[in-house]
Amino acid sequence: MSEAQEKIDMIIIGGGPAGLSAAQYAARAGLKAYLLEEMAPGGQTLVVDDLENYPGFVDPVSGFELADKFQRQAEQFGAKIVLTSVEAVDHNSDGSFTVKTSDGEYTVPVVVMATGAKRKELGIPGEKEYQGKGVSYCATCDGPFFRDKKILVVGGGDSACGESLFLSKITQNVVIIHRKDRFRAQRSIAGMVEHDDHIETRFMHTLNEIKGDGSRVTTVSLHDIEHDRDYDEQFDAVFIFIGANPKTNLIPYAETDADGYVVTDELMRTSIPGLYAVGDVRNGPFKQIITAASDGAVAAHFASEFIDELKGQSYK
Ligand code: NDP
Repeated sequence: MSEAQEKIDMIIIGGGPAGLSAAQYAARAGLKAYLLEEMAPGGQTLVVDDLENYPGFVDPVSGFELADKFQRQAEQFGAKIVLTSVEAVDHNSDGSFTVKTSDGEYTVPVVVMATGAKRKELGIPGEKEYQGKGVSYCATCDGPFFRDKKILVVGGGDSACGESLFLSKITQNVVIIHRKDRFRAQRSIAGMVEHDDHIETRFMHTLNEIKGDGSRVTTVSLHDIEHDRDYDEQFDAVFIFIGANPKTNLIPYAETDADGYVVTDELMRTSIPGLYAVGDVRNGPFKQIITAASDGAVAAHFASEFIDELKGQSYK
């Protein structure tokens, strides 16, 4: 296929906000950039109904509309978006990368990984049914819909504890359950949770089931591990933060942290020269659309400098 044989500067893999922002900045910098996406561009943004916190949008904007604007802006500057499935990213001995897709392959000096992460779900009854009706995986996005309501948080890591603290500013009635007898979260964040008057901590607890009236969450079934008993309790919302699986399978040679996220420096460079990682796939501390977009801009800018240096040497 002819497109795949064209000389291009940068392949961006993944069409969420991080990838689309990288594509826009790369194209504006005069690079020939292709963004490869398996499905419709937009990534996880597409599932957000009302985004209230993206700067510049005074009224809530739908994730779909925002993603569409990201895409059109990138294309307007000349970025090319290709719908295809990436099967492998080979790192060649001359430092270049060969990106193999279901439609052909590209050999390029720079690859930007924007493949994101897949949030973990509990897989319990009611979880899928009540997604968007009280079950959420993002406190910043959905917390404000449950002002002064009773909220259950599941998880014991930095996300669960950090998001509980966010939710405790919205309501005085947050209960966090964790399956162990202590939090995994950093001591400072866990300590703040345990001392917050609006948060009740219940260790050694798991969630069996989420119940509702068909349109919203009303009750949950909890399991008290220590006393080996199940009980029902009224809740208006359930926020689940049990980690995510970053999608790094295409680049097994890049350094990752203990949780599997790609390690980058502040220029979004990975351990491999020419390979950048942006958005939820990398080890950033705050995973939001705006931080993903920022990552993309940073990566494209410094990748452009990297390519200029290469062009000064041999790459044409
Ligand atoms: P983590 O993987 O760190 O924590 C997941 C938590 O969910 C753990 O407590 C785990 O329990 C629990 N869990 C996992 N599976 C289940 C299950 N099936 N049922 C019940 N509980 C379950 O994920 P996070 O999203 O919290 O953090 C991901 C990464 O992002 C980490 O590196 C974290 O440090 C970082 N991060 C940093 C922040 C910051 O610095 N401010 C903020 C947010 C994230 P168990 O402990 O028993 O394994």
